Amino acid sequence: MPEGHTIHRLAARHRELFAGRRVTVDSPQGRFAAGAALVCGRTLTDTEAYGKHLLHHFDNGLSLHVHLGLYGRFTDGEPPPPAPVGELRMRMVADTHWLELRGPTACEVLDPGAVAALRGRLGADPLRDDADPAPAYRRITASTRPVFALLLDQSMVAGCGLIYANEVLFRAGLDPYTPGRLIGPACWDELWADLRALMKEGVARGRIDTVHTTHTPEAMRRAPRVDRHGGEVYVYRRPGQPCHVCGTPIARGPLAGRNLYWCPSCQPAPGAGPASRR
Ligand SMILES: [Zn+2]
Repeated sequence: MPEGHTIHRLAARHRELFAGRRVTVDSPQGRFAAGAALVCGRTLTDTEAYGKHLLHHFDNGLSLHVHLGLYGRFTDGEPPPPAPVGELRMRMVADTHWLELRGPTACEVLDPGAVAALRGRLGADPLRDDADPAPAYRRITASTRPVFALLLDQSMVAGCGLIYANEVLFRAGLDPYTPGRLIGPACWDELWADLRALMKEGVARGRIDTVHTTHTPEAMRRAPRVDRHGGEVYVYRRPGQPCHVCGTPIARGPLAGRNLYWCPSCQPAPGAGPASRR
C-alpha cells in the first residue's frame, strides 16, 4: 500500500495539473457516477493530502476523497484522453490534462462536515506543517500496545506505513515490542522528527531511503538492494540478511497482523541483553 509520501506527491502533481481549472468528471465504470455528477463542470480549487487520504477541493464546497488502498492507481496525461479501458472508476478532464483512477478503496464526494469528520479520525501527519504530535503522544503513553502497532495506527500517526514504521524504529534503536507507555517524551520527539525528515525525503525523491550515508552501497562497498519497493533500507524485507550495522541476521515476525522486521542486537528489549529476548 502506498505510504503517505506517495499521496503527498500525488496531491502536488494534481494541484499542478488541475488547480484553478474547470474539469469534467465522470465514471466510465459507473460505480462513481452519482458522485462524479456532483463535481462535474466545477473548478478544482486546491488539493490536499492527509495521511494516506487525498482530497480534491471544488468551488462548490464539495471535495473528492480518494484512498488508494492496495490496488488503486492514478494515471495522467495530455489531451486527447484515451478511450476508457478496464475498470475506470473516475476520469477527470481539463483543457490541458486528463486524470484516470482505477481500483481505489474509496472514491467519494464529501461535504465540508464529512471532510472534518475524516480529519477528526486521523492522527498527526508528519508531512503536514500544521501537524501537532502532542495529542498522539498523549495517547501513546496511555497505551500498552507495542510501539510498532501504534505507529501504524492511522488515528495516531497518519501516513506512516510499514516501511517507515519498521525503519524508524531501527534508526531509533528501539525494540518494536516496547509498549507505548514506556516511550519517554525525548524518545517520541526523536521518532517524530526522524519520521518527518524521512518522509519529506520520500516526497522529494519519490522512493524510500532510510540508511545513513555510512551505510549506503557505495560506503559499504556492497551491491545495491534489489526489491520492487526500491530504496536502501536497514530492515524492511531483509529477513535473514546481515544487519548493515552489526551483522546480526534481521528478524521477522507478524505483529498486530503486519510484517515486522528488526535487528535483535541493535533493537534489544528494554533491560535485556542482545538476542536474549522472546
Ligand atoms: Zn544490528
